[in-house]
Amino acid sequence: MKITLVTGARPNFIKIAPIIKAIEKKQNEGATISYRLVHTGQHYDKNLSDTFFEELNIPKPNSNLEVKSGSQAEQTGAIMIAFEKELQQNPCDLVLVVGDVNSTMACAIVAKKQNIKVAHVEAGIRSGDMTMPEEINRIVTDSITDYFFTTSTLASENLLKYGVDPANIHFVGNVMIDTLYQNLDRIFEPIFWNEFELETRNYIILTLHRPSNVDQEQSLIKLLQGIDKMADGKKVIFPIHPRTKAILGETNLELKNILFVEPQGYLNFMYLIKNSFAVITDSGGISEETTVMGIPCFTMRNNTERPETQSIGTNTLVGTSIENLEKLFGEFLKNGKRKAGIPELWDGKASERIIDILLQK
Ligand code: UDP
Repeated sequence: MKITLVTGARPNFIKIAPIIKAIEKKQNEGATISYRLVHTGQHYDKNLSDTFFEELNIPKPNSNLEVKSGSQAEQTGAIMIAFEKELQQNPCDLVLVVGDVNSTMACAIVAKKQNIKVAHVEAGIRSGDMTMPEEINRIVTDSITDYFFTTSTLASENLLKYGVDPANIHFVGNVMIDTLYQNLDRIFEPIFWNEFELETRNYIILTLHRPSNVDQEQSLIKLLQGIDKMADGKKVIFPIHPRTKAILGETNLELKNILFVEPQGYLNFMYLIKNSFAVITDSGGISEETTVMGIPCFTMRNNTERPETQSIGTNTLVGTSIENLEKLFGEFLKNGKRKAGIPELWDGKASERIIDILLQK
């Protein structure tokens, strides 16, 4: 079986790494399976791309489509045009896409129109929020996917509601967590640890990059000023996403507790999360990682496509207002850490399950 693996943005790199390892393991056991790795170039900054390839030992892509940034339509269209040529020149039996970025949807459409089977890893999750580009990517991708790999039984149920044949839905667990388990003994402190005098369990990690939080400069500033005040002496490490950085520009914010740093590599970032007091974020992936590491997570969104991080894990859905964050964070400070567990099959073996299943197709 010849598989083309698609990867394009930071969360994709983290998800594709263990899938490649699982394929290589099968190859060593003598299975007839080969892969071609295609990087669409959706994320191309060193901090968001190369570092992840290096740290997670992802092989150099066989092809880089180098689409770079653009509006939603420009980027999606550019990926489709380039990926169509890529597939024509390098035919395969199956295209495997992960997650919910523009590359996921664009490459799924192109593959399907060339009558190539599509596998979607992280299928079926839904926020119900059609203002999120990712939700549209999820729905479109799942409407043409052949093999669905899900992270939860709820995601599988969502697909059943859409009329997907149960024989094509496979609840396998979470590849992002495969990467976490594969790397937990490699994580290390960032160079600023001593300079900032960070102490284990005594700082907060903050990440914000969703349009709903960062696209309006004034509300972003209000949020940051509110978090700075709420932190009350605890340092807040803020690896700033290029999108957020572009909005803030040269604005001088005079914050006492928030410390801006570059987007972190995976191994430093996991170290920072694992040793933190709490995390404030609008990322979906981070709410999964904090769940597994048992770190309290406050999600600055009105909804989540990963409800198990709330019902089983450590995630608290805050909404986007600073007032709500102050209230919920205050309650957490009073009541202490909430009990949490790890969702079913988030055991580090999802990628192996996926490849075992694909080899039977
Ligand atoms: N991440 C990282 N360094 C950072 C911020 C995030 O390694 O400075 C990792 C994070 O742990 C998670 C992934 O990038 O595994 C999530 O990326 P992002 O928040 O961009 O995407 P989302 O989860 O919102 O789709």
